[in-house]
Amino acid sequence: MNLERRKEVLNKIYQIYDDFIKDYELACKKSCSGCCTRNVTMTSLEAYGIIEYLRKNNRLEIIDRLKAEKDKKRFQPKVTINRLADIYANDEPVPVEGDSDPFWGSCPILENDICPIYEVRPFECRSMCSKEYCEEDGFADMDPFVLSVNNLFKQYIEHIDIFGVSGNLTDLIIYLEENDNKEILRGSEEVIHPRLINNHPAKVLTVPPEHQDKIKPIYEKLFKIELK
Ligand code: SF4
Ligand code: SF4
Repeated sequence: MNLERRKEVLNKIYQIYDDFIKDYELACKKSCSGCCTRNVTMTSLEAYGIIEYLRKNNRLEIIDRLKAEKDKKRFQPKVTINRLADIYANDEPVPVEGDSDPFWGSCPILENDICPIYEVRPFECRSMCSKEYCEEDGFADMDPFVLSVNNLFKQYIEHIDIFGVSGNLTDLIIYLEENDNKEILRGSEEVIHPRLINNHPAKVLTVPPEHQDKIKPIYEKLFKIELK
């Protein structure tokens, strides 16, 4: 599946998610930015779309802002969700994840509490869904079933980007922009960057037994998307 097709598939995945989440009453809205931290992670597939959007809308100065903040602390994942699912399934030692602290600061993309790339924001931002406004309690109040659905979507997005990589939003956007937003075509074990991690196929799903029946129709919608 070429990059253009994968981007179309990603948009379909986002549509299926939006259709699912609209049935939940949430406190989240476009101008709510309490969860917009510098710790957001995503796949290279999502990053291509963001860079394209910035170019199309003459907003490349946002990338300069990311570069200016590149030495600031942020969460840099060591393992993707699909690799973690394999690790648990095979009873392998679980790697210690990198540090993460929401008080390290806001997402460098955020402007006056508004996300300027809202239409193309990564799935991690789309899937931060809270029943109550987070800043009142300091944490998101997420339905456990929504968490399972979020993990399913994360696994599927990584799955359709298996030759790509994942990482912190800042690291990925800087890396791809410096490489002219060219498609990453790494070999299966090749590591392209010390702060980016290789994606893996979804071999095992992380859905807990109590959610497996309820999640089936969503799972079927995802797997009906034409991948060619
Ligand atoms: S998760 Fe919390 S901070 Fe983020 S948009 Fe929703 S209510 Fe706002
Ligand atoms: S990309 Fe947008 S929605 Fe996501 S954390 Fe940054 S400002 Fe917030």
